Amino acid sequence: MINIKENEKLNIINHSCAHLLAQAVKHIYSDALFWVGPVIEEGFYYDIDLGDKVISEDDLVIIEKEMKKISKDGKRIYREELTKKEALEKFKNDMYKIDLIERMENDSIISCYTQGDFTDLCRGPHVETVKELKHFKLLKVSGAYFKGDSNNKMLQRIYGICFETEEDLNNHLMLLEEAKKRDHKKLGKELELFMMSEYGPGFPFFLPKGMILRNILENYWYEEHTLEGYQFIKTPIMLNQQLWEVSGHWYTYRENMYTSNIDENLFAIKPMNCPGGMLVYKNSLHSYKELPLRVGELGLVHRHEASGALNGLFRVRTFTQDDAHIFMTENQIEEEIVRLIAFIDRVYSVFNLTYKIELSTRPLEKYIGEIDVWDKAEEALKKACSKANKEYVINPGDGAFYGPKLDFHVTDSLGRKWQCGTIQLDFNLPVRFDLTYIDKDGSKKRPVMLHRVIFGSIERFIGILIEHYAGAFPTWLAPVQINIIPVNNEFHLDYAENLKKILLNNNFRVELDEREEKLGYRMRDSVMKKIPFTIILGDNEVNSKTISFRHYGSEDTVTLSIEDFTSMINYTITNKE
Ligand SMILES: [Zn+2]
Ligand SMILES: [Zn+2]
Repeated sequence: MINIKENEKLNIINHSCAHLLAQAVKHIYSDALFWVGPVIEEGFYYDIDLGDKVISEDDLVIIEKEMKKISKDGKRIYREELTKKEALEKFKNDMYKIDLIERMENDSIISCYTQGDFTDLCRGPHVETVKELKHFKLLKVSGAYFKGDSNNKMLQRIYGICFETEEDLNNHLMLLEEAKKRDHKKLGKELELFMMSEYGPGFPFFLPKGMILRNILENYWYEEHTLEGYQFIKTPIMLNQQLWEVSGHWYTYRENMYTSNIDENLFAIKPMNCPGGMLVYKNSLHSYKELPLRVGELGLVHRHEASGALNGLFRVRTFTQDDAHIFMTENQIEEEIVRLIAFIDRVYSVFNLTYKIELSTRPLEKYIGEIDVWDKAEEALKKACSKANKEYVINPGDGAFYGPKLDFHVTDSLGRKWQCGTIQLDFNLPVRFDLTYIDKDGSKKRPVMLHRVIFGSIERFIGILIEHYAGAFPTWLAPVQINIIPVNNEFHLDYAENLKKILLNNNFRVELDEREEKLGYRMRDSVMKKIPFTIILGDNEVNSKTISFRHYGSEDTVTLSIEDFTSMINYTITNKE
């Protein structure tokens, strides 16, 4: 799916379309005042003060009609430049524009753009005439507090998107439709994977079927990491204030941390696993012979997110990071990263997820550590990407203050991008925790450390997988793999129960639908639940001791012996299909 912000041309027409929206709103609601209307990845929005008026979906249709009318009129868009004083005078009846203007430097030149009867404060750039804005759609409306502060007035935020051609617009609207059908919140409910409760906003509950999926992912994670030479730990959820002071989180991350008192000491619930991991490293002496030391932790973290930002499993207040810290010497960085990239590549390809790598380098001003260490580390990251034959985009100066990083952005089956994996070098924590190892010559040295995740958050990754597969999981992940439907309980149930036992003994996840419902109804239900294999048992199957099944997504019925069926399913699962 397209990112409007990344495309220069689309950026300009979406920005211009926000003004077109504002003009149309002003025609219909003459008292309307406008706050800001930025371009976002998904198009644009405008925050509008309409007094007590709440915009409905029906209103959007009317506004859209007015936008089309203005576009047809085809007025030119004119730029005008004002001094701050002139701008304050011009917009003196508009508290929102005054708010914006007052924050500008006294000697700044302030630009306004006028199209027909409508003038808006703006830096530009815009299209030449409103005629160019033809292929747009208003997508939704929601309330948004002025400046995001719930003590302030609620404004109406109208979202829209604009393209160069009708075809592009229609393709995009089709993708949005498809994305809606795949919404993990909707599918999560229908497939009984997880739930949310008003008693814990942002704290997901995993239901039995979701737990199966989750356990498979976690077991897969442990298996793969064991092969890669990782060891595993589990560190406490709560640790005291002193620790967070040592790690620095107390000073930089305090507002996102939940705290509680234990025996009159302040404790914080961990927002990250790192400090606990550092304490484990310090628990024993380390020799250079142990390096690289790879220590993994599926760590449950809690972070305070604003209630308005919460979104299913994508944005939660508690999640499990598939974390690991790797301790090594400077000379081991490159080889370790090459290995990590190959590892991450292997994991994503199992889910048919492609990805792009971004390399974020040293910030220009705020950073810690020596420049030559940064340079060497960045060079090692670049070399590792080339050695792994992976292209990467550089985000200059976008690294954290404590080290450069590689981010992995996966693309799902709808072409949407999700940042999942990260390899983050850290020059800060080894110093703060005074980590050391004993080198060949017996001297104490400081190890290089990196943090890394592959899924990112297991909860969010499950959300991504639900949408990526549209809930139709491959057999190895499916909570229920096989559904057995006897045509008639009187004649076929015994055989069905016997078959269920055999399949359970093969460690398959099997359900038997013995409800006294019509065959067609039960078959449709099996498809609704997106179960990979639906077995239908009638006279033929009972007499010939075979099974007939349909694979999800296919209308063909295939008949096999029980042995052939089980070996086929085993093959499918072993190959993670
Ligand atoms: Zn503008
Ligand atoms: Zn970490």
